[in-house]
Amino acid sequence: MTTANTTGTAALTTGARAEATIDLGALRDNLAALRERVAGPELMAVVKADAYGHGAVRCAREAVAAGARWLGTATPEEALALRAAGIGPDRARILCWLWTPGGPWQEALRQRIDVSVSGRWALAELLAAVRETGVSARVHLKVDTGLGRNGCQPHDWPDLVDEALRAQAEGLLEVVGLWSHFAAADEPGHPSIQAQLDSFAAALAFAEGAGVRPEVRHLANSPATLTLPQSHYDLVRPGLAMYGLSPVPDLGGPADYGLRPVMSLTARLALVKSAPGGHGVSYGHHYTTPGPTTLGLVPVGYADGVPRHASNTGPVQIGGKWYRVAGRVAMDQFVVDLGGDTPGVGTEVLLFGSGEHGEPTAEDWGRACGTISYEIITRIGSRVPRRYVGGVTA
Ligand SMILES: *Cc1c(COP(=O)(O)O)cnc(C)c1O
Repeated sequence: MTTANTTGTAALTTGARAEATIDLGALRDNLAALRERVAGPELMAVVKADAYGHGAVRCAREAVAAGARWLGTATPEEALALRAAGIGPDRARILCWLWTPGGPWQEALRQRIDVSVSGRWALAELLAAVRETGVSARVHLKVDTGLGRNGCQPHDWPDLVDEALRAQAEGLLEVVGLWSHFAAADEPGHPSIQAQLDSFAAALAFAEGAGVRPEVRHLANSPATLTLPQSHYDLVRPGLAMYGLSPVPDLGGPADYGLRPVMSLTARLALVKSAPGGHGVSYGHHYTTPGPTTLGLVPVGYADGVPRHASNTGPVQIGGKWYRVAGRVAMDQFVVDLGGDTPGVGTEVLLFGSGEHGEPTAEDWGRACGTISYEIITRIGSRVPRRYVGGVTA
């Protein structure tokens, strides 16, 4: 059972210690805003890492309901889990791109999952699985245009393309995608961006000249989707933006891009007590009460994904007012100095939300902890129940 609280956001389920509320209406709205922005290219909803902590199956279903015809995951296991949940090939193409030797190639083929190939070892394993299953593969060849991570180096690209085309001529696979990934699209104007655009164009020209007729050429992650139209090609692959956070926070917040954060994290005060001045707080006594005060115990810790780096800095909102973590974040709990305020035990503590009502955001937590919002939302632990609101799918 839930009620509305004073800030207008959905309140914590009765009796819950902590909860991550996932606003699926916001997710669909974000996809609509992205679709409007890119007008033309298809949209791949990136749902790797359990949809950045939001719940992969629920978010994937909602994204498909909102019109996304592509889903993206890192690992093949993540892709297979979506198929196992009933998201069939008739409803969405799924691409997974992070393969290791011995991976579930045969299962991926049987489940009609598109696979990314960055090197000849992967092509060899894939072709063995094709011969074993009798199912031909849908392949996206990935070129390293400068990120220096996954993807085939440009000097190895001709060989990879030629080998894939030979397998295609034998009916073993179809090269349906040509793709790459940016290093610094979140820093518009970074010299690597133009270099990668040029390198990608050259890789496409080679492959197409050799006879590849891709369904989709794709390069853009969230920052490129929002800031770099010339990178959109046939398909864009937003992750973070779909979850309503800005991938370019120094340029603009979510609202500047028509986005709204999907996840809020709430906990319930487990104890409120008065303490004298000079009282050490939490492990190592890295905070000492400056005078007589009140302390509130928040029952979430680093095992729930509240970073230990938030010690003495992470912001929370209680009853409309901001406080900061006092002392170390422990595994299961942290303390805030309430400065004499006496909210009742059980009062809601908002760690982060949309920001639309003046509450802290995942972006604020990222800044407080010296990291990015991606890491904050992705690491919210499995001990925190997800509560879904606003969904149109079951
Ligand atoms: C994670 C990922 C994305 C999405 O990145 P965002 O910055 O969250 O939009 C796109 N493509 C690849 C290859 C990725 O690994």
